[in-house]
Amino acid sequence: MSPQPPPPPQSQAVNHPVNMIEVSRASKSFGNVVAVSDVSFQLNAGVTALLGPNGAGKSTLFRMLCGLTTPTAGTVKVLGRDARQDTPVRGKIGLSPQQDALFDRLTAYEFVEIAAKTHGVENPKTATNYALTLVDLDTETEKNVGSFSKGMRQRVKLAAALVNDPEILILDEPLSGLDPVQRNRMIELFHNLGSQGKCVLISSHILDEVTRIGSEVLVIAQGRLAASGDYRSLRTLMEDQPHVIQINTNGARELGAALLRKEIIDGVTIEDETLNITTTKIDLLGRSIASIARELDVSLIEVTPMDDDLESVFRYLIEGR
Ligand code: ADP
Repeated sequence: MSPQPPPPPQSQAVNHPVNMIEVSRASKSFGNVVAVSDVSFQLNAGVTALLGPNGAGKSTLFRMLCGLTTPTAGTVKVLGRDARQDTPVRGKIGLSPQQDALFDRLTAYEFVEIAAKTHGVENPKTATNYALTLVDLDTETEKNVGSFSKGMRQRVKLAAALVNDPEILILDEPLSGLDPVQRNRMIELFHNLGSQGKCVLISSHILDEVTRIGSEVLVIAQGRLAASGDYRSLRTLMEDQPHVIQINTNGARELGAALLRKEIIDGVTIEDETLNITTTKIDLLGRSIASIARELDVSLIEVTPMDDDLESVFRYLIEGR
């Protein structure tokens, strides 16, 4: 663990008369593709996770927040301003993009210092050292980023996003490629930044990762805001959904009938030797299916969860509204 870092070079107490982020009925289309559709939310200081599968519209939403692209409809405001039109407000946003666009021949220090100078930070050297300390890269500053692991590259991008001490942090999949120790350290950093009054918005396509971040969550799917709230309530919502399981067996009818009789499943369809079942008692099914098959003297050839992916969870969230 690094020594206690010095105070941030540009810390400032700010009163926010308006929401730090305010997205109001925002949509963005690319030709026929609707990337973001009628999304509204407001955020203030603290950590919020934006959870959604690949292609859900997270990066497009982030690009709109940073003023890199305009909404087709609706408004997107940061600190009460439109970042597309207001250059000073862009200086208060730190973006860590998903793309790995680092210059491999630069050292970590050089890369972050360029970001500091681009932002016109008053003392780029102090700011660069501070940002690299925050992400635990203070001992690696002279190494070329080309030699870095994925996790280290993520941390260099994060340091570049933090170097101007922005009030708003937009972090696109910042935990991807980090090992569990680095991930926990980064999550701790996000929460420290949130409690210092910064608005930290972090995207992820992994439910488990979002649960670990342990914050407020916005769920986006197919461009729409599907759910929002505390991560615990979201987890419960997802666990309560019916699961769809496919079972290949040489005794489809007997097994299906037994599972229904014992009220372990809610519904079943049979196609040749394949059972497609729906159940809300996934744990009970897991514990008892092998012994039921043995009692019936049928073989379980394959048991495949059909909904054990985020896509179906999001579909459920959207359709369940
Ligand atoms: P995510 O970040 O959640 O993976 P994106 O915002 O990158 O999602 O993409 C949302 C949708 O918009 C996808 O279908 C993607 O192909 C499309 N899209 C994003 N950017 C563009 C673009 N510049 N031109 C055309 N389609 C785009």
